[in-house]
Amino acid sequence: MLSRLILFIFIFLASHLAGNVRGARKKTERGWGWNQLRRHCGGARPRPSAGRRLRGAQIGCRGGCWAKMAAMKKALPPRLVGLTFFRAVSTSSMGTLPKQVKIVEVGPRDGLQNEKNIVPTPVKIKLIDMLSEGGLSVIEATSFVSPKWVPQMADHTEVLKGIQKFPGINYPVLVPNLKGFETAVAAGAKEVAIFGAASELFTKKNINCSIEESFQRFDATLKAARSANIPVRGYISCVLGCPYEGKISPAKVAEVTKKLYSMGCYEISLGDTIGVGTPGIMKDMLSAVMQEVPPAALAVHCHDTYGQALANTLMALQMGVSVVDSSVAGLGGCPYAQGASGNLATEDLVYMLEGLGIHTGVNLQKVLEAGNFICQALNRKTGSKVAQATCKL
Ligand SMILES: [Zn+2]
Repeated sequence: MLSRLILFIFIFLASHLAGNVRGARKKTERGWGWNQLRRHCGGARPRPSAGRRLRGAQIGCRGGCWAKMAAMKKALPPRLVGLTFFRAVSTSSMGTLPKQVKIVEVGPRDGLQNEKNIVPTPVKIKLIDMLSEGGLSVIEATSFVSPKWVPQMADHTEVLKGIQKFPGINYPVLVPNLKGFETAVAAGAKEVAIFGAASELFTKKNINCSIEESFQRFDATLKAARSANIPVRGYISCVLGCPYEGKISPAKVAEVTKKLYSMGCYEISLGDTIGVGTPGIMKDMLSAVMQEVPPAALAVHCHDTYGQALANTLMALQMGVSVVDSSVAGLGGCPYAQGASGNLATEDLVYMLEGLGIHTGVNLQKVLEAGNFICQALNRKTGSKVAQATCKL
């Protein structure tokens, strides 16, 4: 009797184990190839996972790696597969997050204008075209400031005319005044951006006028844009700190934001220009600004000087902001902190957003390729942690 019972248990366990292997094999055939999986696992034959929880969903291998078939994205190279798995985390404890985020790529303008050596025009054009291929819906292409101020952007007209205009993608350009606006429109600009600051001293040093006077300058541009039916985006610098004034009061940021919004800017990008902010300061600033301007009209623009850009951005997302500026390969710098990190890297932002299950429409692999291209052209190391982590070297 006892021997029959032992035999029955043995047969039950053996058939259960075989079923597990068959299930895993079926899943593998539908997703990643069985041989491909074996190669990935260093030639080790996949074995059934211990425990029912993994049945049919994951299989373990002797190589020690895990592959989650359903989450597998063929666009990513095999070395990213594990990362894809780890990115699929629960966000239930994260509070309210937007379902979708619009990324405004500022690398070709905010990033490259910080480069000392003049970047050849074809390189700029190729970078923008590669970013367009990557699915970014807004790419700030260049700046129509005077070449005397920013020699790097002297080829603005050639760049704007030379890029491929992908359908559905906006290519806004920065304009400092009415003259810049007119030149930009003549070159084919369909959207422009103006820039001011929340700091009196910064405004004085940067555009040589007071904040109030800067509004008067914006007025002429905004009126011309309205009659030409051109949308205007507004930038506000130094919202979390200023290199001259230090702390900036949230009330001041709210006041400037409200003014730009009421003057006709459809979106206002709040910039931590010197990257000194921390999430608590971001929270205080946004709380004040959101009392005056709806979150849907706000964007954040964080520099990574002190390594806080992603944390500050996450705080903004939790507070209802759904537009984020970033720069491929983290291009850009901080003129007030030698050798400092640049903008928040687009690759790192996309990686975080994907991990949170937030839709961006961006192909991370393509953006990594664009980042690799521009870093080679500039002969410099990428500022993106994701690019560094997935680098083949
Ligand atoms: Zn910036």
